[in-house]
Amino acid sequence: MSCLFCRIVKREVPANVVAENEHALAFRDINPAAPTHVLVIPKVHVTDVSEASDTSLLGQVFALARQVAKSEGLEQDGYRLVVNNGKNAGQSVFHLHMHVLGGRAMAWPPG
Ligand code: 5GP
Ligand code: ZN
Repeated sequence: MSCLFCRIVKREVPANVVAENEHALAFRDINPAAPTHVLVIPKVHVTDVSEASDTSLLGQVFALARQVAKSEGLEQDGYRLVVNNGKNAGQSVFHLHMHVLGGRAMAWPPG
């Protein structure tokens, strides 16, 4: 299995894990784009949102992202959840992941 994020799930590649639930894992992004930048992934390999046939898995990812936002102290000032799907969105790791970004004001729309 060569998928980087599957290897993080198996703890074959080190990551700064901050939380997990039965079906999802949260760890800090290696190249943070905000003071808080955590990635939340399903523990099973799913390429992107379009490939997620088990939509309850998406709920598990959302639930863990919300838990991380709370534990990182982002609820009061707000935070951004981002899922890049495919080429035009700039997806670079093809294992579904939700970015949890916070700790500073962010522009909208993104570039
Ligand atoms: P994407 O552009 O696919 O939405 O986001 C991929 C994210 O994965 C990027 O923000 C990138 O910094 C992060 N990333 C890539 N390789 C690693 C890694 O080995 N460990 C961690 N923790 N994050 C990574
Ligand atoms: Zn994977």
